[in-house]
Amino acid sequence: MMSSREIRVRFAPSPTGGLHLGGVRTALYNFLFARKHQGKFILRIEDTDQTRFVPGAEEYIIRCLEWCGLKPDEGPHIGGPFGPYRQSERKNVYAQYAHQLVEQGHAYYAFDTPEELEALRRQQPNFQYDATTRGQLKNSLTLSAKEVQHYLHEGRPYVIRIRMPENKTIRIHDLIRGEVEFDTNQVDDKVLLKADGMPTYHLAVVVDDYLMQISHVFRGEEWLPSTPVHVLLWEYLFGKAHMPEWAHLPLILRPDGHGKLSKRDGDRLGFPVYAMDWTDPFTGETTRGFREMGFLPEAFVNMLALLGWNDGSGQEIFTLDELVTRFSIERIHKSGARFDFEKAKWFNHEWIKRLPVKHYLEEVKIFFKQQHIPLSDDEKLMRVLELIKERCTLLGDFIEQGKFFFVAPETYDLSVIQKKWSPGMQAAFEEWEKALEQVEPWEAENIEHALIAAAEKQELKKNDMLLPLRIMLVGGKFGPPVFQIAELLGKVETRQRIRKALVAFSRHG
Ligand code: GLU
Repeated sequence: MMSSREIRVRFAPSPTGGLHLGGVRTALYNFLFARKHQGKFILRIEDTDQTRFVPGAEEYIIRCLEWCGLKPDEGPHIGGPFGPYRQSERKNVYAQYAHQLVEQGHAYYAFDTPEELEALRRQQPNFQYDATTRGQLKNSLTLSAKEVQHYLHEGRPYVIRIRMPENKTIRIHDLIRGEVEFDTNQVDDKVLLKADGMPTYHLAVVVDDYLMQISHVFRGEEWLPSTPVHVLLWEYLFGKAHMPEWAHLPLILRPDGHGKLSKRDGDRLGFPVYAMDWTDPFTGETTRGFREMGFLPEAFVNMLALLGWNDGSGQEIFTLDELVTRFSIERIHKSGARFDFEKAKWFNHEWIKRLPVKHYLEEVKIFFKQQHIPLSDDEKLMRVLELIKERCTLLGDFIEQGKFFFVAPETYDLSVIQKKWSPGMQAAFEEWEKALEQVEPWEAENIEHALIAAAEKQELKKNDMLLPLRIMLVGGKFGPPVFQIAELLGKVETRQRIRKALVAFSRHG
């Protein structure tokens, strides 16, 4: 059911804190859909609830999108023909629509004070402001026209509520779920305009989707229960013909499949839930993000795309461009997608292997700098990274796997030496160390030949010397092929490390 009008989709976060991976996925699906259909991807900041406003959150959201490569075509930071894109700057447009609804009889003034409503809620825990209760409450449906005028005139605070029709079924065609029905009796009379004159989300979202000519709404499943209110507002204010198409995205579930993945689950299970580090400006508390945890944006986006969608071919690794080509709403799953951190790391490992190291050199450098590890020139660093990238799952792993290239081992895993060391081996290593002087050019193969020659003289096998050699150069039983390590370390450093280790081993052998 693709309409012929221009494709315009929006990502409409409220700037209330860190950006949850579910939010990034919503942005991603919007972005993919827009790009696929040569449409526009719009960022709209929904900040009408001033009590939830968090300084810095908007800038953070913009940086997250940038990191992921999801560049909006219109937004508060870049402008566009339908601006402003920050709802707090559009305050004046909403009230007239709320008043229009009152005039049409689809909404009404409600003068009940927060204290009165609170008292009712205490008496009746299931209290809802709806068709069954509105007749006993203080609103323009129960008060006389004169009383209402009087209240308004004396400046009594009021909200405007939608008057939900009774016994009606509202049907939508959801692009993911198919036909969805809502019973209007189940929905309360939502506030549209608050006492401070600001719209609620429900009014603002419909007005802005109309004014910004949004063609499709892709949003989280948690907004499905609000949809009947939005559909009615569309019908009353703008006519259903202009209404966007709806697609409610499946939830991202906890790893055990029980319930929606929350930041708390991440804290508890030790994985990030936010795209990037987020520091709460009120408490100063920082929550780890995927980026700082050592994820590549390519992997993060790829992983998110597959949390709730696949192209049916079994392919798992996709670039953003490939995702644009392959993406289709029809293949978004209806049921929730379980988040699996191990799988997320698998994607990262795959992307680390696939991308040229040049691509993430600067990010890796940040990790080295954080640990105060002195680095050589970029060229050597890149050769090191290339050699060890197969072994790295997160960018931080480059430190563990690569630190020894820049800092000689301070300690040695002596368990190996205790088993293998002998006077003959000591002699072979001493001999080899001297012979290395002559090795030219300094390449893995030549270094290895020199070792074989030294081993033979002592009637040793090369293989017996490999692990002790690794301990000398690396400190432990890990790392890439040992002669390649020597090649990269260079002649002077390799010989120095051997000499230093020989002294240490002779004490323990
Ligand atoms: N402001 C809502 C949010 O924070 C947007 C919901 C929608 O896309 O309609 O998720």
